[in-house]
Amino acid sequence: MPAPPTLSQLDARYDLVIVGGGITGAGIFREAVRRGARALLVEAGDFASGTSSASSKLVHGGLRYLKNGQWRLTLESVRERQRLLREAPGLVEPLPFVMPIYADRPPGRWLMQFGLRLYDAMAGVRRSRWLPAGAALAREPALRREQLRGAMLYEDASTDDARLVLRLIGDAVAAGGVALNYCAAQLRRDDARVCGVQLQRPKDGERRAIDAALVVNATGAWADRLLGAPHGAPPLRPLRGSHLVFAAERLPLRQAVSWLHIRDRRPVFAFPWEGAVLCGTTDVDHRGPLEAPLAEPAELDYLLEGLRAQFPDHPLRAGDALAVYAGVRPVVGGGEGAPSSASRESALWIAPGLIGATGGKLTTFRVTAGEVLRAARRTLPALREAGDAPVFDAAAAAAGDRLAARYGARAAARMRAGGAEELLPLGATPYCLAELRWALRHEAVHHLDDLLLRRTRLGLVSARGGEDFLERVGALCRAELGWDETQWQRERERYRTIWRQRHAPPAP
Ligand SMILES: Cc1cc2nc3c(=O)[nH]c(=O)nc-3n(C[C@H](O)[C@H](O)[C@H](O)COP(=O)(O)OP(=O)(O)OC[C@H]3O[C@@H](n4cnc5c(N)ncnc54)[C@H](O)[C@@H]3O)c2cc1C
Repeated sequence: MPAPPTLSQLDARYDLVIVGGGITGAGIFREAVRRGARALLVEAGDFASGTSSASSKLVHGGLRYLKNGQWRLTLESVRERQRLLREAPGLVEPLPFVMPIYADRPPGRWLMQFGLRLYDAMAGVRRSRWLPAGAALAREPALRREQLRGAMLYEDASTDDARLVLRLIGDAVAAGGVALNYCAAQLRRDDARVCGVQLQRPKDGERRAIDAALVVNATGAWADRLLGAPHGAPPLRPLRGSHLVFAAERLPLRQAVSWLHIRDRRPVFAFPWEGAVLCGTTDVDHRGPLEAPLAEPAELDYLLEGLRAQFPDHPLRAGDALAVYAGVRPVVGGGEGAPSSASRESALWIAPGLIGATGGKLTTFRVTAGEVLRAARRTLPALREAGDAPVFDAAAAAAGDRLAARYGARAAARMRAGGAEELLPLGATPYCLAELRWALRHEAVHHLDDLLLRRTRLGLVSARGGEDFLERVGALCRAELGWDETQWQRERERYRTIWRQRHAPPAP
């Protein structure tokens, strides 16, 4: 990304101003720029600092949505999954799942087999099959053996959610869009019509009014709180989901395992992710502030109870975790029923000068972007037709080039030119100094937490939030951002506080 402009360097008017830099806003931004719009994206915090860095990282149809009869959502999602697997290899990767079937607890084999056949048929692939008990254990030795009848093997996909957002934003900026993080927007209106945004950078208090032919409210769980927005946003029910991250040696899984929790038969899962193992998730009403949601002890107990029942040879305690994190789903429609039965469909609403989009899933960002831009053509008829361009240049990452997949081919080539030493992985993580350096130079890093929690996920997948690497990271920050010792100390304290409050596992 070129260096972001200051507020005074922005144009006075854009075709489209997108408020919200999560996956929804990033997807719309990428697609708008591709179709010829002069687009500005603004994000109040860091890019992907809302729900889009705190998801379960699955690019999936969602078997449980099938069970709830949400056919359209499942169909759309599995098709998008297949497309992203083709067009973003290395960033969206196939993830084999085993679902063990036991004689003494649900689910039963035949119902699962039927559901998975349907799931495969929707995607136009045949991936699911039955494994007898011996084959299931050979594939996943960590499974509970008692009463095991076998397992269903099937396939979904996983990603690094924040990196997906950053890649979309990076590509859109490279194609001429403008994106600003740490810049809050409120809407400006001319009578009943939204005519632009009032921007404010909390850092220096700088303010600027920008005109727009159309504003997009892509603020996720904040969608019904955006200041100045006309009524029309649907009521949202914030539902929190929490996760635990373990070192791979604590729970050495070879693939994803999904099972029904013994307490309430909700589906839960654990899978290898970014060199660690991720376990999730809960689904509870979130009543606290939307910023910085916290995983509550009862949620962690619930996840641990589920893990211990499924992997009895690996008795995990909360203190064994590397990190925890929680995110808030913007579930559309309010309602009081069981959280897990609330629909995950997205909602689109239109008011003069404004289009809003919220709800939905990470997986379906492209579909949401397409719907928003179709609606936008009524105001912006010069927007080009969709075409069928790939999300990313798949060829760049076709050879399983992790760096090219995550940063783009040009960035990867430049990182490699920096020499072999900076490409060595940091500890047991998949990250290297070259990535950190690239992010500091090109990805609008304002704070240390941007670098360690979203540009990379070092803070989630290494011990004590990556304390062991801080010295080397500090040297890079000084070299690339010109931070002096005082600023480094300030940033390190800020990062440690955020990590302690939001990501530290409970004491053993
Ligand atoms: C626990 C959990 C697990 C999930 N797992 C999956 C999964 O495995 N797969 C999947 O497909 N989906 C999953 N989802 C759903 C998915 O994560 C969300 O649908 C998606 O991330 C929402 O993205 P968004 O861009 O709409 O919202 P966000 O990512 O929250 O982005 C909205 C942004 O708007 C910004 N903003 C708010 N107000 C303003 C303002 N005034 N000015 C500027 N910016 C503003 C916020 O700071 C925020 O960054 C999960 C969700 C949760 C909570």
